[in-house]
Amino acid sequence: MKTLETDVLVIGGGAAGLRAAIEAVRGGVKPLVVCKGKAGYNTTTAVSGGGLKAAVGGASVEEHIEDTLRTGRGLNDRRLVEVLARESSERVLELRDFGIGLQVGRGGVYVGDTPGRGGLELALGLRDYALKIGVGLLEDTIITRILLEDGKAIGAVGYSHLRDEAYILSARAVILATGGAGALYLRNDCPRGAVGDGYSLAYQAGARLRDMEFIQFFPLALAEEGFPPFLIGGRLSEEGRLLNALGEDIVEKYAIRDRPLVLRARDLLSRAIMTEIKAGRGVDGAVLLDVREVLRGGLEGWFSTASFRTLLEKLRAADRPVKVAPICHFTMGGVAIDEWGQTDVEGLYAAGEVVGGVHGANRHGGNALTSALVFGARAGRRAAEYARETSAIKPIGFEELQRYESLRGEGVEAEELLERLRRLMWSKVGILREGEELREALREIGELREEAEEVKAETRREMLQALELPMALETAEMICRSALMRTESRGAHYRVDYPEEDESWLRGIYLQKRGGEMRLHVEPLSSNA
Ligand SMILES: Cc1cc2nc3c(=O)[nH]c(=O)nc-3n(C[C@H](O)[C@H](O)[C@H](O)COP(=O)(O)OP(=O)(O)OC[C@H]3O[C@@H](n4cnc5c(N)ncnc54)[C@H](O)[C@@H]3O)c2cc1C
Repeated sequence: MKTLETDVLVIGGGAAGLRAAIEAVRGGVKPLVVCKGKAGYNTTTAVSGGGLKAAVGGASVEEHIEDTLRTGRGLNDRRLVEVLARESSERVLELRDFGIGLQVGRGGVYVGDTPGRGGLELALGLRDYALKIGVGLLEDTIITRILLEDGKAIGAVGYSHLRDEAYILSARAVILATGGAGALYLRNDCPRGAVGDGYSLAYQAGARLRDMEFIQFFPLALAEEGFPPFLIGGRLSEEGRLLNALGEDIVEKYAIRDRPLVLRARDLLSRAIMTEIKAGRGVDGAVLLDVREVLRGGLEGWFSTASFRTLLEKLRAADRPVKVAPICHFTMGGVAIDEWGQTDVEGLYAAGEVVGGVHGANRHGGNALTSALVFGARAGRRAAEYARETSAIKPIGFEELQRYESLRGEGVEAEELLERLRRLMWSKVGILREGEELREALREIGELREEAEEVKAETRREMLQALELPMALETAEMICRSALMRTESRGAHYRVDYPEEDESWLRGIYLQKRGGEMRLHVEPLSSNA
């Protein structure tokens, strides 16, 4: 076991964590970024399109606010949205000072030279700049517990799956920037580690979470066996024909008129496709996208050339329709924060996708990265101020260390249970939700929890998964319970048994650990404002 001390411990090495660490250095303290993989590289930020929404290029702050609130269907925390929009241009344009190239358009920027491909450049640019100014890194280490003393965050316990070693990290302030939970779903476009650790870490520390029922799905991604689930956009999605097994045009059948389809009709299209699949009119759990006509006319606007080549050469999309299906993309809900990223737990801050309230019931494209930068910087600044006024306390994490040891040996493999969880979330807590299925899902999550008691790990990789599993199950339970409680359809949350938006549900669902139990309650919007 190793112990390390730092002023500000940042958990997560994506856009939010790295931006927070940069600001902490500017605030005169020493941050340490700890992450499950390599900072920058193994993050959702790196696989993102690198598009950032901001009040730039002639677009106003008011427009940004309006777009964000409209998409969030009234459930956003207005204070957070105002901060996001007001600070968007400064946070986004300063990326150039970090050596990151930008193209500015009306209402947003994209990183690099080509829209849709700048995620890695953004992530590595932030990583390089952070390292240059002295941010410390502890990579390949999973944090499994935030340590508390008198209700204040004083550090964390983690396990390095590179060195097979436990770490006790002592810190004056802790920032949670662990990203989302998209990889809890069978079909997703997130890094495999995005199984929602941060929601569970915050919950176990006593923080409140909100809006956990809102999960965003992208309607069109490749669903051909043996191929990665590339997102499909541009002319392929707009001009191609989406067909069910009977050859019916799905967009026509459901009278979907909003364009571009994958931006403005994301939810409608995802639901239409899943309705067809569930009704038995799909093809191997997918539907067909016929782009033969589009390809005859040449093509632009495909997300990446590698994906385009795959589609064209290996899948022969010029000769036959290809299988596509929706994919889990983003987690709207998360840890409740104030405008400075302060959670309900003293000394614990949060930023990025792990946070709830900015996006409400659905997210406007480009707002995730902007929000990670804006609230990352704010959390970094506030955590640095707090750390300067606080003395370090030596944390004790022996219970957690004993748990690590008890996992060693032969037994049930965590990956098997994680796979069952992903299938369960996809089939019963996904795009089309229904009360009885959600109750079944809760029961099955309970059964998986019982089976998880028998999990053992023989290798470092198995140990990593064994440590992820309980956090994944807890986050899945949060999503499921919140989805069951919201008896209406709003934004990305669709209840087949309550298909309409209901005015009386203009309220947020919050959850918190109380008396050892997951307690949910509803708060009127006025308390957010
Ligand atoms: C395919 C795709 C394209 C996208 N394109 C865009 C776009 O163009 N514009 C936009 O605004 N948004 C986009 N998004 C969303 C956006 O990329 C993410 O919301 C954003 O990058 C999240 O940043 P983050 O820093 O919060 O988390 P991440 O970038 O996911 O970083 C999380 C970090 O936390 C670490 N971590 C997690 N758990 C632990 C743990 N227990 N212990 C230690 N470390 C841990 C991870 O290893 C990682 O370093 C896209 C998402 C996807 C999937």
